[in-house]
Amino acid sequence: MKVPLLDLKPQYLSLKKELDDAILRVAESQYFILGPEVKSMEEEFCEFLGSKHAIGVSSGTDALLLALMAIDLKPGDEVIVPTYSFFATAGVVSRLNGVPVFTDIDPVTLNIDPNEIEKKITPKTRAIIPVHLYGQSADMEPIMEIAKKHNLAVIEDGAQAISAQYKDGRCVGTIGDIGCYSFFPSKNLGCYGDGGLVVTNDDELEHMLRIKRVHGGEPKYYHKVIGGNFRLDAIQAAVVRVKLPHLNDWSEGRRRNAARYTQLFIDAGLAEETGRTEFDENNRVLLPKAVYEDVDGLTNYHIYNQYIIRIEKRDELKRFLAENEISTEIYYPVPFHLQECFADLGYKEGDFPKAEQAGNTSLALPIYPELSDEQLVYVVDKIKEFMKG
Ligand SMILES: *Cc1c(COP(=O)(O)O)cnc(C)c1O
Repeated sequence: MKVPLLDLKPQYLSLKKELDDAILRVAESQYFILGPEVKSMEEEFCEFLGSKHAIGVSSGTDALLLALMAIDLKPGDEVIVPTYSFFATAGVVSRLNGVPVFTDIDPVTLNIDPNEIEKKITPKTRAIIPVHLYGQSADMEPIMEIAKKHNLAVIEDGAQAISAQYKDGRCVGTIGDIGCYSFFPSKNLGCYGDGGLVVTNDDELEHMLRIKRVHGGEPKYYHKVIGGNFRLDAIQAAVVRVKLPHLNDWSEGRRRNAARYTQLFIDAGLAEETGRTEFDENNRVLLPKAVYEDVDGLTNYHIYNQYIIRIEKRDELKRFLAENEISTEIYYPVPFHLQECFADLGYKEGDFPKAEQAGNTSLALPIYPELSDEQLVYVVDKIKEFMKG
């Protein structure tokens, strides 16, 4: 049985007419960049996310870059980021000649560990970028307290977590100063190319984000500040507008699949419960835990952009599953502090043991909402076969 990591075809087929019409509407309007389609999209996201302002941009990476430009990050400024994330989280800091300062992660959620942040703060620290990795909120309350105490900006990387909620019910991205999202096709809300969004509740930041999205001219061709080309295409806006009303249903499907995997692993005797962080006889597979699951009224407490298990013989398992037509992926094999491009920052192996454990043992299983129960059962059966063999 074939189990792809992600198959976007069934989603397209379920909305084909609406999506095709939306794309044609843009072709007929001949309005390709920004314009009314993007404006309507921004209004719909403000409403959906509960944010005062939303600004469509060219990608999730550009959302982060623009956010750092909007707070006017200067060369030499330090930005605290988790060492375990997609490259863009740290790359954008270096691109502005800032210094990414790495921290270890919480071993349960794999998100930045708030207890590690304060000891990294120096007079040069300007901002913190918490990442809501794999679809679950970072622990924002202590992060916001630290930021307030030290007067730091908080830029949330919600690229994998649009619509996920923190324990207080707010959507990730709307808690810090600026929230960033990606519409890369494999994210939970994907467009048909590159696209992204930034949100903020702050009017001054909104102004900077808007003008720096288009090179910083104000009025056009008169530049007090420098921006870039971070504009969003109308076609991408039209596509996400069709998809947005379905996002909650898709998240529910992902949560259903996650719950099913968890039950199957426990029934197979490969794990005892979610949220364990050490391997032993009864926990040979470490399962992801939705830490805000029991909070009253939360629906999108985890939107499972990925369902990440951790397992000691990860690379062998990945090969074995591939031989059985099950695609998986390794996120992220090398934490930032061990990346060659950051060697001059002087970190070494062993500096962040929790992130290193995650990098060495995590494996993403197929979790997209349209998977059949047979496929989920097949995946866990094959993992059980591997563990026994
Ligand atoms: C995907 C992703 C990004 C970048 O988004 P793009 O749209 O691909 O540029 C940034 N941060 C994280 C955590 C991501 O997963």
